[in-house]
Amino acid sequence: MNFPSLSNSTVSKTPTAKSKSGRFTWLLIGLIAGVGFGWWRVAPPPSVGGGRPGSPVATWVKNRIYATILPREEAPFERLTADNAGSWQNVFAEPIQSFDWYQSQNPTRPTTQRNVIVLAPLGAMKVKEQKLLRDLKEYGEAFFQLPVRIATPLSLDGAKSWKRGRQYDSSKIISQVLLPRLPADAAAYLGITMADLRADGLNYVFGQGSFEQRVGVYSLGRYFPAFWGKKENAQSVRIGLRRSCQVLNHEAGHMFGLMHCVLYKCSMNGSNSLDDADAAPLDYCPVCRKKLLWNIGCDAAKRDGDLRKFYRAHNLRE
Ligand SMILES: [Zn+2]
Ligand SMILES: [Zn+2]
Repeated sequence: MNFPSLSNSTVSKTPTAKSKSGRFTWLLIGLIAGVGFGWWRVAPPPSVGGGRPGSPVATWVKNRIYATILPREEAPFERLTADNAGSWQNVFAEPIQSFDWYQSQNPTRPTTQRNVIVLAPLGAMKVKEQKLLRDLKEYGEAFFQLPVRIATPLSLDGAKSWKRGRQYDSSKIISQVLLPRLPADAAAYLGITMADLRADGLNYVFGQGSFEQRVGVYSLGRYFPAFWGKKENAQSVRIGLRRSCQVLNHEAGHMFGLMHCVLYKCSMNGSNSLDDADAAPLDYCPVCRKKLLWNIGCDAAKRDGDLRKFYRAHNLRE
């Protein structure tokens, strides 16, 4: 390493007005830097930040947040990097939602009048699909520690969109089927269908949500081999259930104000494909979990126990 040579510098031995003002300037700079460093140490992580994984600003903000997480909480999760991120993170630069920022955004929270997650079956459902809904109810109750109700099935006839095969228009389902029936006690209202969905400009969509209005519609059809003309087996049933649970915790998470997670491999990661979603854990990372626990104010140990019981019963060990 090369250091600048001091041999040519001139040093004045008698203090002049110029050197006094120089010392004052350095003192001021030192003071500002000291106050700045002190603020950086004690202030909560910045509320905004972001950029693509690996960008210097994102790394700085993320490191501040990682420093608030205990090693044992972090152990089962992988930090998100440009290498392990799915395609979504490398396409969309999303903000980093710290816990403090989340709290300050005043997210939707369950109240005594509005504390039920309502699942509305849309269109025809076979017996095994009705069983899937019951499993989802059980999972939702464990994950969110809130009551989950399966509503009376609704028809999709008003939302046909036959341009590309047998599909239904997700925007129409939200505006014409779900919103007019939004139950007064619903903290989140999720239409669930096995039919395929499309939206303007897209060949198909897995779902669509209007988070401020607490309403969304999600198709589970593509999660199962029958859609692709393939046979079902024990493994495909397990994967289909895992995907359905993930869509429930992810989408209801949005309704409770959680943004996509850019900190860890986490169920709240944005995803562009089934491969992305399958590569993400079923659970929330410690930061998203902290947001949820604060939001719903539940007994964390009971929640952990209920989830473990569900995973064991359905062979979804995480
Ligand atoms: Zn999402
Ligand atoms: Zn997360």
